[in-house]
Amino acid sequence: MSKKLIYSRSEMAKLCEEALKSRGVELEDIALIAYNQQSRYTPNVSMDVCRESVLKVISLRDIFHHVLLAVELDKMAEKGLFEGPIQDIIANDLGLFGIDEVLGLDVAGLYGVIGMTNFGDIDVNKRGIIEKLNVEGKKEGIVHTFLDDIVGAIAAAASTRVAQIVNEELANMVPHQKVTLFDDEDFKDK
Ligand code: MG
Repeated sequence: MSKKLIYSRSEMAKLCEEALKSRGVELEDIALIAYNQQSRYTPNVSMDVCRESVLKVISLRDIFHHVLLAVELDKMAEKGLFEGPIQDIIANDLGLFGIDEVLGLDVAGLYGVIGMTNFGDIDVNKRGIIEKLNVEGKKEGIVHTFLDDIVGAIAAAASTRVAQIVNEELANMVPHQKVTLFDDEDFKDK
């Protein structure tokens, strides 16, 4: 049987949704983090644009790969499948193990520096379902070492996308002006 390596955007979004759901995370939980984060800056932000942004983010190939890998790494650690010290380090979510955050930053970074700072806020303050995943991950036999970061990163990316949409709408509300780089007299002869 030939191997399938390339997936369409709708397939990737669906597979991400299923993988997250299998680990107890609904897309609605992620949209809610994005909504609460953006509501601090934009009072009338809609939940629909947050949901749409989550769907958009999980349809991206980079993020699809991150989600599936993160979910599998946690499951492997739960089954004790790693050899050597790294098994206990991942299974116990060692505070000084930062590779889960690196993966989260990589995802959030697809939406620039603001994506990364939004991820930092969600990660440090354990927003929404992140707190629940963190608490559950401390129970015997449950590993959420990579899951909490990937979920927080998707929320941060979606939140940042919402901010971009809001700003685009604001820009389009400003009365039309002719904008050129060199229309100032001072620049004429330079
Ligand atoms: Mg983690």
